[in-house]
Amino acid sequence: MLTTTEIRSALQATGPRQEALFAEARRARDAHFGPVFILRGVVEITNVCRVNCDYCPMRRDNTTHNERYFMAAEDIVQRAKAIHEAGIDIILLQGGETTRSLSAVREAIPGIRELYDGNVEVLLNLGNMKRSQYQELRDVGATSYILKHETSDPELHQIMRHEPLEQRLRCMRDLLDLGYKVGTGVISSLPGQTLDSLVEDIELAGELGVHMCSVSPFVPAPDTPLAQESSGSLDLALNAIAILRICYPHILIPSVSALEKTDSGGQSRGLAAGANVMTVNFTGDAARDRYLIYGKNRYVVRLQHVLEIAEQAGLQRRGSVFLEPAPSVP
Ligand code: SF4
Repeated sequence: MLTTTEIRSALQATGPRQEALFAEARRARDAHFGPVFILRGVVEITNVCRVNCDYCPMRRDNTTHNERYFMAAEDIVQRAKAIHEAGIDIILLQGGETTRSLSAVREAIPGIRELYDGNVEVLLNLGNMKRSQYQELRDVGATSYILKHETSDPELHQIMRHEPLEQRLRCMRDLLDLGYKVGTGVISSLPGQTLDSLVEDIELAGELGVHMCSVSPFVPAPDTPLAQESSGSLDLALNAIAILRICYPHILIPSVSALEKTDSGGQSRGLAAGANVMTVNFTGDAARDRYLIYGKNRYVVRLQHVLEIAEQAGLQRRGSVFLEPAPSVP
């Protein structure tokens, strides 16, 4: 565990000091998990969102270049079939925050579980909901949930997301309380963010007791109020990943597509900084082009890319760490 002062200093590491930080993070990862990475498949089920985050092209007010779509339950299960065929046992259903997708998700989850005879992690990333809605999804078989705090600075959170941080944290606590494995996440280099607030982001992940945490460098996206801002620093994001790994060796840390979008080779460097999760896109061409996570020109992660960079990093692929091991046959 690092102190607040040590985290602050490590966030600014460069050159040999940064290399030493990454080496320590890799040691922590390999000591806890072994030389492996966890592979997920994602289906982006809708680009409709009631929230208006200033950094996101799927924000409510972007009606110009956001051709809206919802996947039906049967389409979601079809996409899940492709993930199953690729031998991946974590299905991430991701989309904007809208209650209009709830019934399709509720209907799709049992169909997904059936594909795997129940041996599947159903991971959701669908935003804030009422506790009763999280409960319903848990009851039909959801295992885990990603709900990123993005920034722990209450004022900046309100400015960027037009929503209170406290509401987000309440949702995270509900999810943990209901037995979900929970992932949070941070945007580094968010305009208006200070180094001290990034330190607090890292410490908050520990305080919440979450099971996963991502770091995404800020990406200035078209059709957003932040389109003219500069791209976030890849080094700062990588340093934050390494610090998270050293402070909390047991958590899952994805090497996200925003790292690759910021700089070619970014995801490979994410693994070198101690990340241990990669997510392959299975949305399907038609919907994928309309899912404007960083605008139309986003980096789409394919299986081949993941397998190549993992091999270079000396990491073997493995499945969900949240599933019960199969009982051994006597
Ligand atoms: S970041 Fe998420 S919650 Fe915010 S506008 Fe985009 S899809 Fe909606």
